[in-house]
Parts: sequence; C-alpha cells; structure tokens
Amino acid sequence: MNKIGFIGLGVMGKEMARHLLSTGHEVHVYNRTKQKADELVGYGAHWQDTPYDVAKATDFVLTIVGYPNDVEEVYFSKTGLFAGGHEGQIFIDLTTSTPSLAKQIFEHGQTVGIETLDAPVSGGDIGAKEARLTTMVGGKKETFDQAKQILDCFSAKVTYMGEAGSGQHTKMANQIMIAGTMVGMVETLLYADKMGLDNEKVIEILNSGAAANFSLANYGPRILKEDYSPGFFAKHFLKDLKIAIDEAEKQNLNLPGTKLAASLYEQVVDYGYGDFGTQVLIKYLKETM
Ligand code: NAP
Repeated sequence: MNKIGFIGLGVMGKEMARHLLSTGHEVHVYNRTKQKADELVGYGAHWQDTPYDVAKATDFVLTIVGYPNDVEEVYFSKTGLFAGGHEGQIFIDLTTSTPSLAKQIFEHGQTVGIETLDAPVSGGDIGAKEARLTTMVGGKKETFDQAKQILDCFSAKVTYMGEAGSGQHTKMANQIMIAGTMVGMVETLLYADKMGLDNEKVIEILNSGAAANFSLANYGPRILKEDYSPGFFAKHFLKDLKIAIDEAEKQNLNLPGTKLAASLYEQVVDYGYGDFGTQVLIKYLKETM
C-alpha cells in the first residue's frame, strides 16, 4: 500500500479520498477549511497542516481544488507541494484546470525530479461517491503506469491521453459536450412542461432513445424534486466553459454553441446562483423569462 497525500476535500475530493482509505492506502489530507477533513480523520486519515507537510509525508499526492489559481497556490506557494516535495515523488492534479498550467507544473517537476500528471475526472458527485469516475490523464506514459492503480480506486475508466496537458484538453472536450446537453436538457423540460406532459415520463422515455444523456439521467430527476444543491457547482461549470473557449480561441477555433452556454451560465452566476448545481439553469430561466 502507498503513502498518499490528498488535497481538496470538497464535493469530489472527500469521496475520492475515502475510496483510497477503504482500499487500504495510508492517506494524508489537507484542505483550506480544516473541518471538512474531520470525517476522513475519523476513518483513519492523517491531517497535515500545509501542502508542504503533505508532500513531506507521502510518495504520491493527489489534488482536487476549485480553480486554476487554487492549483497554483497548492503547488507553487512557500508552503506548497513543490517546496516540500522530494525526488521520485508523483503529483497528480485532478482539478479541472488549464492545459497551460498542467504543462507548467510538469515542466517545473522535471527540473526537481518530481513527475506530474494532469488527470481531471468526469462523472459528477455520484461518480465520486460510487467510485465510477472517468479519468483522463496527461503526462509521461511511465508515470501513468505507476499511478494507474491509485486512480483505479475511484474510477470506472482511466485512459492515458498523451503528453502533459492532454488530460485537461480531453476534459475541455467533455465540457463542450456537457454545455450542449445541459442547455438541451433544461429546454426539453421547459418545453414538455409547457405542453402539459408528465416530465417524469418524459425523462424516462427520452433516456431510452437517441436523446439519452448523463445530464438528463442525473440532473433531470433532481430538477423534478426542485433539488438545486451541488452536484457540480454552476460557478465551476462557467470556469470550465471559459477555459474551453479560451483554448479554442488560441487555435482560431470558434465554438458558438459553447459560447451561448457560457453566456447563460454567466447570467446564472451574476444572478447569484453560482453556488447551486448546474441544474439551477432551469430555475434561472423560469424566473427571468
Ligand atoms: P468543492 O466542493 O468546492 O471542492 C474544492 C475543495 O478544494 C474545497 O474543499 C476547498 O476548500 C478546497 N480548496 C480550494 N482551494 C484550496 C487551497 N488553496 N488549499 C487547500 N484546499 C483548497 O468543488 P468540487 O465540486 O469538489 O470540484 C473540485 C474540482 O473538480 C473543480 O475544479 C471542479 O470543476 C472539478 N469537478 C467537479 C465535478 C463535480 O461534479 N462536482 C466533476 C468533475 C470535476 P474549502 O473547503 O475551504 O472551500
């Protein structure tokens, strides 16, 4: 079993760290808000006061924080991972972040003998709870081979995508698809409701046909219960869409559908709904249409 550090114990991280513990690994945890670690410490995780201390105590470190600037702080600050890291160690960032930051982390790691992977995940809070995430990985293939059995602890599928940054680019491709399915799902339910259909039946039948998708299957039923809790924060989805648009523009690629979804989620966040789950788009549209 390995000595594994885990930083970021939010909706996703807490569940993923729990799976590492239950697989028998020695897990050292850190989170900005300490009390979010209490439950895991109760299950046998070791609290560390800084990312630096996490790096000192472990051989592998996994991170899943909020935004790219959180990732930068965790890796590069004076009390960060690189400051406490040692040669031969492996750092894996699971945050949805920018491909350029993934490359910067990789390149810095090469100068100090630390290997890194960018390994963002898909599958939502349910995927994290049930250890059924899809994990897309960039970095060196040898590093991937060394880390795969750790990623398997919380994933149903783990795929090597190529050099550093490729995991994040794959996650952006994923989010471009989700931009379409979230807007489509919300408009489907608004339309069916307006036409007097039973939306429970609509979700069931559409999920059996060509319109079936993850957003409809997972967020449709939450909408029917008026459950707008996250899930996946609307503010994080907006972050992802902005990264995808930015990366596309760097390559002179226009993504008009993704831009439309980004502008809708920008409105959702400006309206004060960023801390709800992404399904809150329907509530925003009902209240403002
Ligand atoms: P979350 O609940 O906000 O969790 C993020 C955690 O990271 C929080 O506990 C936060 O601390 C901690 N954190 C942030 N900055 C930190 C720092 N500098 N040092 C230490 N801890 C720090 O968000 P989440 O839903 O788990 O999502 C995490 C990441 O995964 C995001 O990039 C998101 O886009 C991505 N993602 C989410 C989902 C999903 O369905 N939820 C799916 C795939 C990918 P506090 O407790 O102090 O806030």
